[in-house]
Amino acid sequence: MKDFSKSKALFERAKQIIPGGVNSPVRAFRAVGGNPLFMKRAKGPYLYDEDGNEFVDLINSWGPMILGHAHPAVEEAVKEALATSPSFGAPTAREVEMAALICSIIPSVEKVRMVNSGTEATMSAVRVARGFTGRDKIIKMEGCYHGHGDSFLIAAGSGAMTFGTPDSPGVTKGTAKDTLIAPFNDLNAIARLIDENPKEIAAIILEPVVGNMGCVAPQPGYLQGLRKLCDTHNIILIFDEVMTGFRLALAGAQELYNVKPDLTTLGKIIGGGLPVGAYGGRKDIMDAVSPAGPIYQAGTLSGNPLAMAAGYAMLTQLRDNPSLYHQINTTTTAIVGGIRKQLFSKGLGYTINQVGSMFTLFFTDETVINFDTAKTSDTARFAKYFQSMLQRGIYMAPSQYEAMFVSAAIDDLVVSRVLQASEEALKEL
Ligand SMILES: *Cc1c(COP(=O)(O)O)cnc(C)c1O
Repeated sequence: MKDFSKSKALFERAKQIIPGGVNSPVRAFRAVGGNPLFMKRAKGPYLYDEDGNEFVDLINSWGPMILGHAHPAVEEAVKEALATSPSFGAPTAREVEMAALICSIIPSVEKVRMVNSGTEATMSAVRVARGFTGRDKIIKMEGCYHGHGDSFLIAAGSGAMTFGTPDSPGVTKGTAKDTLIAPFNDLNAIARLIDENPKEIAAIILEPVVGNMGCVAPQPGYLQGLRKLCDTHNIILIFDEVMTGFRLALAGAQELYNVKPDLTTLGKIIGGGLPVGAYGGRKDIMDAVSPAGPIYQAGTLSGNPLAMAAGYAMLTQLRDNPSLYHQINTTTTAIVGGIRKQLFSKGLGYTINQVGSMFTLFFTDETVINFDTAKTSDTARFAKYFQSMLQRGIYMAPSQYEAMFVSAAIDDLVVSRVLQASEEALKEL
């Protein structure tokens, strides 16, 4: 057994002064049991915790470390920016370069506003959609995560209710009634909601490829169908590409599936590991944002020099190494293919979903296409597999309902290490 004693002591101390001991809930390992590990440093494909244990990182900070940890180009850029001043509270050339770079990479983004997190990006995009259309309601898909904005912390209503109910104390019923919930991959449900709420829906927001119920792909024609419904009913289509942006392809899922949203929200990779988000899209819509237009949105540290330097370095690395996507997808296919073979030879009927460099092993034999099917997973078995992998030096996402994110630093040797661990972990189930 690995020694986690320093992490354990830190967690005990953290719980006295931080709610639940962590600054974001999933980190607490509640879904898998045991103690969260406190990380000290990371390099390339490896994480090192406070006890000095080494782990192959299959989360990569939930996506941003797509080049592997401590990439020299990103490090250098941040150092250079730090020498000028960490913040000015005034416009900088870096922000113009960053906006130009984003617009040149993602054709649907004609204008873009920088914010400080994915949550801020989605909250702002929905406000803009409402302000632009003069409508109040939005449709979100069950199991999709868009950060912790009130409008998104909504569960599906029961029975005859077409509107949602608060999914967290503190979210008001008033907010919940403006968020309608539909299952992912179900165009009929969307058409029905639009029918029942004529001219009331401002936006449809979704993860075009879901990462937040585990990895779930859109079925053929789903994204195109949403595009068509939005066009017919003058609804703003928002792709939340906080996870998929710059990951599934340089221009994200919208490039991979060739569907153009009206607005796109970005986060994670866009900051190269620093706290950055962005939202952008059609020029006519974005020109409604203050001070160009009447819809208010602001941020004291938005466009922060260090964050812009890190993000710009990250995005240029990705743009200038187009073979990188092929590389990480091939690496991911090798991991997924290897685990699939292990499952097959053991007669275990589990489901693995993979899109590009994202994947999830669901402990269910059902095909996972939405939240209901994802929930058929045996989470206790997942937790056991997770702990076995952790003991063998593989750091996976600590919940069944998360995707794994492969980085470019994972080479063949690391892949075989992951597969060897998985072979042994599956035996222990
Ligand atoms: C992570 C995530 C968010 C929230 O971003 P934060 O930076 O954590 O606020 C929003 N949408 C999606 C799809 C995400 O994966």
